[in-house]
Amino acid sequence: MTGHRHHRETIDMSGSDQKNLLRALAGAAALALASTTACTAASADDAPEATFSWLGTSGWRVDIGDSTLLVDPYVSRFDTGLAEGEFDPTTELTVDTDAVDEHTAGAETVLVTHSHWDHFTDVPHIAEATGARVVGTWTTYNLARAFGVDTAQLAPVKGGEVLDFGDYAVEVVPSLHSRNANYSMAFPGYRDEPPERPETIADLPEGDTLTFQVEVDDGPSVFFMGASDFVERDLEGLEPDVAMVAVPSTDATHAYTHRLMEALDHPATVVPVHWDDFESPLENPVTAGLPDRLEKFVDEVQQVSPGTEVITPEYLTPYTFD
Ligand SMILES: [Zn+2]
Ligand SMILES: [Zn+2]
Repeated sequence: MTGHRHHRETIDMSGSDQKNLLRALAGAAALALASTTACTAASADDAPEATFSWLGTSGWRVDIGDSTLLVDPYVSRFDTGLAEGEFDPTTELTVDTDAVDEHTAGAETVLVTHSHWDHFTDVPHIAEATGARVVGTWTTYNLARAFGVDTAQLAPVKGGEVLDFGDYAVEVVPSLHSRNANYSMAFPGYRDEPPERPETIADLPEGDTLTFQVEVDDGPSVFFMGASDFVERDLEGLEPDVAMVAVPSTDATHAYTHRLMEALDHPATVVPVHWDDFESPLENPVTAGLPDRLEKFVDEVQQVSPGTEVITPEYLTPYTFD
């Protein structure tokens, strides 16, 4: 699916009026009408345009005017045997520096939901290559230090912080990791101090999980997940316009989609993430890791939240959202 390239609407509406209108305009035909209206309206304000490009897994590149923000950037996509059902926890960490540099150049901020390999592996290199600041858990902080990242570039957070970056603000939300079929997860645990330099994927523990809500100045509020669980009560009042939602690979979490859509107050747009195969090249069409799970998730969103538009993303395609 191609990106929405809307000019910003000039109709004078408050954020909540606009959201209510969007909700009222449920259904493809009505949304098409809204798009047409938005596209024909002249752009009168000079707020920077924000584009959101999916990097696979739960990774995003967000360009807001001249600022670039990354979320869980993992471009190296090395083989762990996951796709063949022969997952090897001793797989060595390798960074595809050419690919990483190509897709992350100019970054100033990197948000890391948790420190598993498919979220964190490329982050130390990005920090070194771009000078970007890395925002993540205390475990992420210590792992980054183990790779030699300067502490001046590391911002340890717990959840609850609201960080101001000028053209955008980031609210850090305490969250939870996905559950596997054993109600557990790969590589649980923490790092309270910098360990030896990690060499394999098993050297990168989960270290607690965060979500982030990015509020673009005069633009959309966008909720980013990197794993498929959440603390229901901690989402109250976030009411994002757009939610990048991790697709669960099991049913261990009760009523995941239903509770999440309710807690986020039925966002106008949901973009499923963390459903590709994590390891094949970053080329469209996207290969789904668990296609049945993606389909189930999309069906559930449409049942629970019929006014929500679900956009199944393509790699490296700049999306914009009103
Ligand atoms: Zn994980
Ligand atoms: Zn992951």
